[in-house]
Amino acid sequence: MPEGHVTHRISGELNREFGHREVRSTSPQGKFTGADVLDGRVFETAQAFGKHMFIGFEELPEQVHIHLGLIGKFFFFPEADPPTENARWRLTAFSPDVTMELRGPNICELSTPEQIDTIVAKLGPDPLRPDADPEVARARIRRSSSPIGVLMMDQQIFAGVGNIYRAETLYRHHIDPFMPGKFLRGAEFDLLWDDLVELMPLGVRDGRIDTVYPEHMPEAMGRDPRVDKHGGEVYVYRRDGQACLVCGTPVSTQVLTGRNLFWCKKCQPRSRRRTVKD
Ligand SMILES: [Zn+2]
Repeated sequence: MPEGHVTHRISGELNREFGHREVRSTSPQGKFTGADVLDGRVFETAQAFGKHMFIGFEELPEQVHIHLGLIGKFFFFPEADPPTENARWRLTAFSPDVTMELRGPNICELSTPEQIDTIVAKLGPDPLRPDADPEVARARIRRSSSPIGVLMMDQQIFAGVGNIYRAETLYRHHIDPFMPGKFLRGAEFDLLWDDLVELMPLGVRDGRIDTVYPEHMPEAMGRDPRVDKHGGEVYVYRRDGQACLVCGTPVSTQVLTGRNLFWCKKCQPRSRRRTVKD
């Protein structure tokens, strides 16, 4: 599933390509009934809150609400009539010509301001947004007995964080993924939050997730670059059974909240705080 860096990156691309331009809007597949309402309007702005995107048009209170889900994807073409079909939503601007197609999203619908407020109010702070308040996440983690590895994926705690950032930030700070959130120290929360704020903009910029420190890059270690369709140099994500880049222990994996968690049992030892009675 695309993580928050993808939605923010696409929002930027939509704003660069379509911002303040009149657009032709259609739903070739017919499933986005709101597409007609937007035809001939001026594209105003796209913005992301975690994994949700909202796109506004001039003189229209409703906005397009998009959630990509597992398989949704945007495509951009430098032409007005690309030879494609079956997009949920197609947006075109002319001279210079550009077309965006959205295929397979979980959600693509017009939402009222009230509906959007309700969606955003449920989300935790998004490390990619300057208006994010980390204290909301801190308080929710402190109240929870769920493992921090579960809480890291909870969109009501960190909006936009997914499976890769979860595994990598916990690894980078040697945190036991199975430790209940309520035992996380304030300083550890600060490290996790600061790490997300530092790493996620790099993901927006580069379109891939890299999390390893310079001393663990392939050239520094004399190892081959990682080959993975998700790209990026990482410590543990999808590296189960391979040697930890720091200690050599085989990376572990286990399903947690429906997704595979990856961690190193030596670098992230079982916390003694797990045995403490509260
Ligand atoms: Zn290790």
